[in-house]
Amino acid sequence: MSRPLIAVSAPIENLPTAFGDQDCTKLTTAYTDAVYAAGGQPVIMPVVVDPPEGLLDQFDGLVLTGGGDLDPTLYGEEPDPTVYGVRPERDAFEIALYEAAVDRGLPVLAICRGMQLINVLRGGTLIQQLEADIDHWQTGPAAEPHHKIDVVADARLAAIFSQSAVGVNSYHHQGLRELGTGLRVTATCGAVIEAVEADDVRLVAVQWHPEQMAATDAQQRALFEALVAEATASAHTEKKENS
Ligand code: MN
Repeated sequence: MSRPLIAVSAPIENLPTAFGDQDCTKLTTAYTDAVYAAGGQPVIMPVVVDPPEGLLDQFDGLVLTGGGDLDPTLYGEEPDPTVYGVRPERDAFEIALYEAAVDRGLPVLAICRGMQLINVLRGGTLIQQLEADIDHWQTGPAAEPHHKIDVVADARLAAIFSQSAVGVNSYHHQGLRELGTGLRVTATCGAVIEAVEADDVRLVAVQWHPEQMAATDAQQRALFEALVAEATASAHTEKKENS
């Protein structure tokens, strides 16, 4: 059986190269390793301007990855001085990826910045700099949990996790403020929103980085396994329809 194709978005960063400082597609292999270990074939999607119609026609699922901050003008705000790594071309390309996935009814796993992007796309806003009870940017190893989250019952997330309180890592200085239309909160850490879902999209969106924990934590691995399982099911349905 062939593996379902999982599109994985990627940061674009200006980095030193043999040719001088140039824009590079730069993604930690933890994302693609987690997709592959779950049975999917990851395909990194480099940022392109003016993406084509049918951008994800060959694909079965989408992972929106983490990275620098969204351009605050997307939600009508001037940037706070703490905002970093803004690349409007990445924002635009990932919006195209998400819309293509929604058009095709593909399952989506949105991680950190990916969750923030979807919230803003649906009319929500972000807290540009969190002032939470605890620091949400950990200094310990990324594979280890930093804080607990409370998972809401009757959520896709709750079905994936086997318990309602789960330890997660934390690498975000921003958070969701106003919730986008049709989104509901499925996990929190105090007042901080840690996961959302929607009923009109096959979406699991999380504020932490499950890819960094997936190799050693079965619950975090299960997020990728759930995505690949849904992607496999839709790939098979489509083959039947086409035959
Ligand atoms: Mn957190």
